[in-house]
Amino acid sequence: MAKCPACNYDVRTPLFLNLDAWTHLACPHCKARLEMKPPRSFLLGPLIAPLFVLAQRGRVFEVFAFVFMFVTIFLLLFESLRPKLRLRTKPLPKPAIRLNIDGPSN
Ligand SMILES: [Zn+2]
Repeated sequence: MAKCPACNYDVRTPLFLNLDAWTHLACPHCKARLEMKPPRSFLLGPLIAPLFVLAQRGRVFEVFAFVFMFVTIFLLLFESLRPKLRLRTKPLPKPAIRLNIDGPSN
């Protein structure tokens, strides 16, 4: 469960792997379209590779690199299980075929 940023009601969030459900997620109370905030721990990911290069220089660096990697993975899992929501500002992709229902009829 997460809080809707617009009305503060609880919103049932889909499993983080269910991308299709996420793209259509909306608040059941105020109908605001919602999306997942990207987890902050994603920012730590790119640091893992240079740390493992550094790890070849000694035991201390090696231990540090492994600890850092496990902490990053743990944070990612933790944030994915308790996702934060934000209002979706980007419009949904337009359907390929538009029905001209409102067009002039003559
Ligand atoms: Zn809401």
